[in-house]
Amino acid sequence: MKAALFTQSGTVNVVDRPEKHPGPGEIVIAVESCGVCGTDLHIVEGTSRSTPPVVLGHEFAGVIESIGPGVTDLHPGQRIAADPNISCGTCSYCRRGLVHLCARLRALGVDIDGGMAERCVLPAAQAHVLPRGFPVDAAPFVEPVSCAVHGIDRAGIKTGDTVVITGGGTIGLIMLQLSRHAGASQTIVVEPLGWKREIAQRLGATIAVDGTKAKEAVRDLTVDGADVVIECAGSTTAVDMALELARRGGTVEVFGVCRSGQSVSVEPHSLFFRELTVVGSYVNPHTFARAIEILAAGIIRVDAFRVSRFSIDNVHNAFSVLRDGGTHKSMIVPAS
Ligand SMILES: [Zn+2]
Ligand SMILES: [Zn+2]
Repeated sequence: MKAALFTQSGTVNVVDRPEKHPGPGEIVIAVESCGVCGTDLHIVEGTSRSTPPVVLGHEFAGVIESIGPGVTDLHPGQRIAADPNISCGTCSYCRRGLVHLCARLRALGVDIDGGMAERCVLPAAQAHVLPRGFPVDAAPFVEPVSCAVHGIDRAGIKTGDTVVITGGGTIGLIMLQLSRHAGASQTIVVEPLGWKREIAQRLGATIAVDGTKAKEAVRDLTVDGADVVIECAGSTTAVDMALELARRGGTVEVFGVCRSGQSVSVEPHSLFFRELTVVGSYVNPHTFARAIEILAAGIIRVDAFRVSRFSIDNVHNAFSVLRDGGTHKSMIVPAS
């Protein structure tokens, strides 16, 4: 079976792997589609942690082909989306319910072979059955939406809030739609690329501007700054901007993933007098089922995204098109 393997050398190679068989408590799925995300680009660049050699892909869905001994609640033929994050269940964080902060957290597509392959073996506990009629195109978005749902919880948006979203990529557009659904009265998307701003506007952003006009837009639409700023670009410039755009008493959420080792300078005086709340948001603790409900209900429109589909053989193109900003989401479709 074909798979996109990330090796120590910092490259992704299409390799032929032996067919998979499920062990106790495991299932094997035929992968329908697997999204390529910014984290995958970071892993390949060596700026985000991973355990190579590993088959990449943590945003994927497929159809169960076989189940291992002891799996009783799943059966072949069911469509599932995979929650890639595997917590140990027994560390001090897991025992406090903070499974995403697990001391032994491992992830499919990062530490264990993931979904950029024709087949994937995974613990049955990581599989979430998709409701009948769940749109095929929406399935690989369950994982990013589950992370964004946690982000919305962490940001604490209240009805009537003005929300600024920096970055109009997949995550930014998911956050835009979730913010509106959470009751935001106004949403401002800050994004350098014109075509991405247009789509943000189409998805209901009050206004979409590039970085040079962000301050002006916030000044025009608010009394003293945004109630909530969600940083989804993963750049230090955007984090700086996010801290500036929040009102006194506002919340700034760091959601986008900056390269490890990068830093921003923060003026403690400003944090203190403006009483800012700065929160991080990491992956998807207990939000996977809600993400499936949200996508099934059509609350998030993924049909508005520019999606580019590639076979496993074309994985390099999938990465480069995403890196160059030519698409919202590169998708690996093994059967294509
Ligand atoms: Zn991702
Ligand atoms: Zn744990």
